[in-house]
Amino acid sequence: MSREMVPEYWRNREMYLRPMGSVCKDCGSKYFPPRKICLKCGSKNLEKYELSEKGRVLSWTVVRYPSEEFSKYSPYVLGLIELDDGTRLVAQISDVSIDEMHIGMRVKMMIRRAFEEGESGIIRYVYKFVPDIKEK
Ligand SMILES: [Zn+2]
Repeated sequence: MSREMVPEYWRNREMYLRPMGSVCKDCGSKYFPPRKICLKCGSKNLEKYELSEKGRVLSWTVVRYPSEEFSKYSPYVLGLIELDDGTRLVAQISDVSIDEMHIGMRVKMMIRRAFEEGESGIIRYVYKFVPDIKEK
């Protein structure tokens, strides 16, 4: 079986940012990306908090036919991740070979500038995860 690599297109990490989520002060639900209204209890009493940067993989899949804007990154790994603070989110996992992927794998969040949109030049930010090196 050939060793299939996910493209390492985010080597340059100078745009690294601190991930922020929001937490409901009434029921404790956590959200990323941040929300202004709690989905669980309807409260508007949410405040920003600094997300855990690290977590583990709950499940994952390989995306071979993504939407056009991500087609140059295909194939890539999409994972359901639970951060150490309990926040769950779906994100791309990169800098990893598909053979190395496993449930429970420790990962670390990176936030990067992704692409600029059309002539308006609106900059979009995306987040992804990479293997947490300390695990190895
Ligand atoms: Zn709530």
